[in-house]
Amino acid sequence: MIPITSLAGQSVALFGLGGSGLSTARALAEGGALVNAWDDSPAARDKAAAEGIYLFDLREADWTGFSALVLAPGAPLTHPAPHWSAAKAIAAGVPVIGDIELFCRERALIAPGAPMVAITGTNGKSTTTALIAHILNEAGFDVQLGGNIGTPILDLEPPSPERVHVIECSSFQIDLAPSLDASVGILLNLTPDHLDRHGTMDNYASIKQRLVEAADFAIVGRDDDWSEAIFQYLKRAAHSVVGIASNRPHALASVCYESGRLRRAFALPALKTLEENLFDLARAPALRGAHNGQNAAAAFAACERLGLAHDEIGLGMRSFPGLAHRMEQIGRKGHVLFVNDSKATNADAAEKALLSFDDIFWIAGGKAKAGGIEPLKPLFGKVRKAYLIGEAAPAFAATLEGKVAYEQCGTLDVAVAAAARDAAESDADEAVVLLSPACASYDQFANFEKRGDAFREQAQALLDENAAQGALF
Ligand code: ADP
Repeated sequence: MIPITSLAGQSVALFGLGGSGLSTARALAEGGALVNAWDDSPAARDKAAAEGIYLFDLREADWTGFSALVLAPGAPLTHPAPHWSAAKAIAAGVPVIGDIELFCRERALIAPGAPMVAITGTNGKSTTTALIAHILNEAGFDVQLGGNIGTPILDLEPPSPERVHVIECSSFQIDLAPSLDASVGILLNLTPDHLDRHGTMDNYASIKQRLVEAADFAIVGRDDDWSEAIFQYLKRAAHSVVGIASNRPHALASVCYESGRLRRAFALPALKTLEENLFDLARAPALRGAHNGQNAAAAFAACERLGLAHDEIGLGMRSFPGLAHRMEQIGRKGHVLFVNDSKATNADAAEKALLSFDDIFWIAGGKAKAGGIEPLKPLFGKVRKAYLIGEAAPAFAATLEGKVAYEQCGTLDVAVAAAARDAAESDADEAVVLLSPACASYDQFANFEKRGDAFREQAQALLDENAAQGALF
């Protein structure tokens, strides 16, 4: 835990008693602040009270007495309208901040400039954060990983010059962290997302821009127009910035993913270039696909900045186990590979998985999202057969009709068994049984994690069964 001393002796309002709210309440109290916590949910309040956190109905409070409102990132700050607690704080001139802001203030007090890598972007944040932390760990660094992934930031060990904090930041968290000034700031990519909470794309992009603009060293994706505009802006402002790209080969001085490799080219006099081969991603099994090329390029640039040698970075990339539910490789038997991409809850995310493999036995369906799998039509050639589950099955079948063979399986267990059987019998060099549902899970599972866990268990049972029999299914 990181005791927050910057508000010692002061009265602080805290709204939102989920995981990070509880962590913040403890850290503030440990540092000597007087915490007045509240949540709209009685269950959340009961849980906090059981821990000894002081509850105070903030609707009734005199807000002029508070030094800050610490707001949970799930509560709206600006759009569609400020949460009532934020509205009261703003009206009383009380700053509205989040746990990452408290971390940054504490870092400035106890270990100014201590190494901190902050990662944001619309997609790939968790993968890149975990990858950087893994590479640094393998290279012997003292690493703390958290923020929007896993452990809330104030539950980590305190910042120090010998320790690197690798922190995933959502746009909501950046919005609540005006003094976020990482040593290395990463913006991977920007596509329209969360606009209900940020109003416009301009506003969303400007929040993400703050993270890289305030960092000592910025790493910015160049694959989409929004991020490229931020990259160019930082360059013009003579900011210390390096580009990363996965669909823009030959961008000079940027770390580029190109033909399965990370490369970089520098301009030399007389129109010559110097080419550096940085890493062959075929050696990193958990980093398949161009989208992971972008994540790996960002991790490479960050670790290089932190002083790692190229071969140290390569070692970490090779042993990276990947994250659960994101193109997670469960196991391989003969020519059949089982891949759990349960996190792909929309067509956009499933597209990344379909792009990454060639002979796919595709398990799809669940609670449908607008547009279904229509946008994936150009990739249907990669799908040997589809195994449909859940509410979306009839609509998906209509899209696949006449283009891809499919089977109505109803439930995941039936789909896994059928896909494994067909994959084993196929002549593909690598037959991939892929759960990448392009749907939410709520019709049949509590969340995407539970769906992925069920897939993993069923796939593992098939792998074990066949290991015992020594058979290939
Ligand atoms: P986030 O934390 O930003 O949600 P994750 O690393 O958890 O991102 O990946 C979520 C999904 O997004 C993955 O299953 C994959 O389909 C897709 N993805 C991962 N990295 C990228 C990227 N760099 N660009 C686009 N999509 C990506």
